[in-house]
Amino acid sequence: MLCSVSIDLDPISCYYRIHALGSSPRSLCDVILRRAVPRFLDVFSRHNIKATFFVVAEELEERAGKQAARALVREIVAAGHEVGNHSFSHPYELARLPRARVVEEIGRAHVLIGDATGTPPVGFRAPGYDISADMLDELCHLGYRYDSSIFPAPGYYLAKVGVMFALFALGKKSGAVLTDPRALVASPSPYRPDRSAPWRKGNAPIIELPIAVTPWLRLPAIGTSLLLAPPRIRAHWLEQMRRRPFFNLELHGIDLIDAERDGIPAELVARQPDLRVSLSSKQRAFEATLGRLMLEYEFVTLGEAAGGYGA
Ligand SMILES: [Zn+2]
Repeated sequence: MLCSVSIDLDPISCYYRIHALGSSPRSLCDVILRRAVPRFLDVFSRHNIKATFFVVAEELEERAGKQAARALVREIVAAGHEVGNHSFSHPYELARLPRARVVEEIGRAHVLIGDATGTPPVGFRAPGYDISADMLDELCHLGYRYDSSIFPAPGYYLAKVGVMFALFALGKKSGAVLTDPRALVASPSPYRPDRSAPWRKGNAPIIELPIAVTPWLRLPAIGTSLLLAPPRIRAHWLEQMRRRPFFNLELHGIDLIDAERDGIPAELVARQPDLRVSLSSKQRAFEATLGRLMLEYEFVTLGEAAGGYGA
């Protein structure tokens, strides 16, 4: 059985947008990269796991103050991990923007990541898991081997509706955008998508690697839920996942952030339950999860997994 661990490095400004909190403090613009990436690299090196990091490429632009981000991305690659494209500026509404913006967001990130790492990325994850036909078409055009954005989890979708509605009731607008609901019934196992309908099977020259959901109920088997779940529930979920030959375990940089130590403002901590859990507790849960998975799974990057599925 194969397992790929991936980390979406959404900057803190993304969370401010989702929760309608306005602009994030400038001093924290790269806090996720700066504080969380070394923690992930440390865990992976101790367990000898190669993972995939999805980078929001705006952080790599050639301008003052961004050298540290480029150095960190090079460190990720030097440690044997893969760096994937998570768009240039992470617009949650990318799937609804004109094709020219889609091409620009994917293309700019493609060039910046290639420049920073020396190797152009071959994998993409859409902001907010919302992959569109235009995006898939552009990825095929650039010769990408895989997309990993489909997240067929109806429960997660409903939870997002709940958060957006709660904000709406307060007269605020969440920056989050609902994914195309057709993705909720997509295959939970890797497949070759239809170029004009990414949630359907077809014959595009690219592989879709859906993010893990449990069998039957399709609960999100992602880092945030696994790290926050009580150990018994986590063990149950991992047991359920054994029915799937490929486990695409997705995390976010913020999963290894410590609100207190990393100076996260109280306004965001109040909105993000995972920020109210200590780093040591989340690290313990993460290592326990990896330790359990290592007994049965071979760990590969998403790029390697895509290769195994014929990309
Ligand atoms: Zn993201």
